[in-house]
Amino acid sequence: MEPNKIVEEIVNRNNNYVKKHNEHYFAQHIASQHPVITLVSCSDSRVQPNVLIENPIDNMFEIENIGNQISTCEGSVSYGVLYLKTPVLLILGHSDCGALKTFMKGYENIEDSVKKEIDNLKPVGLSKEYTAENFEEILLLNAQKNIDYQVNFAVKTFKDIIQNEKLTVIGAYYDFKNEFGKGHGRMVIVNVNGETNKNKIKGLPVFEHISTEFKDVVIDRYSTKKIKFK
Ligand SMILES: [Zn+2]
Repeated sequence: MEPNKIVEEIVNRNNNYVKKHNEHYFAQHIASQHPVITLVSCSDSRVQPNVLIENPIDNMFEIENIGNQISTCEGSVSYGVLYLKTPVLLILGHSDCGALKTFMKGYENIEDSVKKEIDNLKPVGLSKEYTAENFEEILLLNAQKNIDYQVNFAVKTFKDIIQNEKLTVIGAYYDFKNEFGKGHGRMVIVNVNGETNKNKIKGLPVFEHISTEFKDVVIDRYSTKKIKFK
């Protein structure tokens, strides 16, 4: 798509938005914001907040970077949690993550600025041992491992707020490939405040409004007996 077409598209789209919304629409958030979720998501264009929330405006404080990492944007995450006081910090990994694939395949010759951000994934302990047959599965296990790492990072950073029950850290996987078998596009919750036992997660009060049957759909862990991490 040519840039002139893209510009035409966005200015027209925004013009429609301006026409549809008057000052009353903006009155609630003209002077301050009131988000309920701090989101740490991958920049991947296939992962967008509107798969989780009808209207992200004034509801979701969004931080996006390659590989849904906290350490590359710790200040932004702390701003959402400490100053905007969102009760939920959601860390969202996803299917087919390019950052993880780059890490797994080796990235010595890439642009320095990109390399710097991929380097931040080193402490996660991702596996680089794969074959053509099991690459997809190792990638999924790595994505889950990265979510766990980022949740644990947050749990350590915001320990007191979590203990005072003012913050819940949720780690989830946006599964547009249906790897968990819960439907294409499902957000599968794999970690809550560092807890990775799915039965224990299901018992947490944060899920009290969700039926037992539905908990079985939205809470899960990917595990395999075939592959052992080195
Ligand atoms: Zn990604």
